[in-house]
Amino acid sequence: MNISDSNGHFPILVAEDDPVARKILEKTLIKEGHEVVSVENGRKAFDLFKQRFFPIILTDWMMPEMDGIELCRAVRNHQASGYVFIIILTSKDSKDDIVTGLNSGADDYVNKPFNPPELKARIKTCMRILELERSLKEANENIRILSITDPLTKSYNRGYITECLPKEINRAIRYERALSLMLCDIDHFKKVNDTYGHQAGDQVLIEVVHSIKDSIRQDLDWTARYGGEEFLIVLPETGPQGACILAERLRNSISKYKFIFQEKAIHITCSFGISGFDSVTSDENISSESLINTADKYLYQCKLEGRNRVKAGYMDKAQSLKFKDKLLISNDQ
Ligand code: GH3
Ligand code: MG
Ligand code: MG
Ligand code: MG
Repeated sequence: MNISDSNGHFPILVAEDDPVARKILEKTLIKEGHEVVSVENGRKAFDLFKQRFFPIILTDWMMPEMDGIELCRAVRNHQASGYVFIIILTSKDSKDDIVTGLNSGADDYVNKPFNPPELKARIKTCMRILELERSLKEANENIRILSITDPLTKSYNRGYITECLPKEINRAIRYERALSLMLCDIDHFKKVNDTYGHQAGDQVLIEVVHSIKDSIRQDLDWTARYGGEEFLIVLPETGPQGACILAERLRNSISKYKFIFQEKAIHITCSFGISGFDSVTSDENISSESLINTADKYLYQCKLEGRNRVKAGYMDKAQSLKFKDKLLISNDQ
């Protein structure tokens, strides 16, 4: 989230009950290029803050309804989307008062009547801190993306499965929605490496992920590299029947696709093992492991029966939520 404008200015919320002081504050800050929203007490400031995030709050101390100290505490106790830098304006200048202000959550204070160059300098300090926070967040986000991404194919990795599949399952159970997953394994992939080289194999893996991503819903479904040439595809709100249709379409298109590596055409096929449910009301027997194991079992069956096929098992509410060892479809070639 980038809340500063292109010049690095941040929107500032001003709370000040004295209309003259409020006007001067507004003018000073607007002249510096900031967007300023000003209100006449802490209560109004906090109500506004709950609707819209402000990274900087400049608040008077003494105000009716809710004073600056209460506003600081309220903002600090509120779950905000980023750090809020609070500067308190005070005519109180005893050390005890300053300590009270800082302890209530203020980051800095400015004495009243304020000196415009000093206020501008304090705002600049606070912009530097907010900018630092923004770049730290960005760096953290990049690290997070790296930690859940497979470097070769740019699909999610195994760690992402461990983190997110249980959440998908819990969500599906809570809302009594369907969920399916499929394991897609490239057939005889070792031969691709042996015949065309490891780089060609890498290229095939990358393009298989493109095909998968192109055929699933961008906003809901996701795919992750489960192992070397094996991908997990998770389909929330899709029952095993729907998953079979998707897998069959994918199987068909991959089997017809010409992968070109250094002007050589490579043909591959994939096998798909599917598991899932249409809707279940309890989490008994349903876990990432049970779903993946079932998909794996049907994948293994595909391999035994000649590869380039789709096989699925499903979980049935009527059967006490036990996986029925039932084949949903089998498109033998
Ligand atoms: P099956 O049809 O039974 O799945 O046969 P397979 O050859 O696809 O399966 P096997 O498990 O025997 O071999 C998988 C191969 O995938 C062996 C391994 O070297 C290759 N592989 C795994 N990761 C990568 C990778 O990142 N790049 C390349 N090029 N090959 C990989
Ligand atoms: Mg006041
Ligand atoms: Mg394979
Ligand atoms: Mg494999």
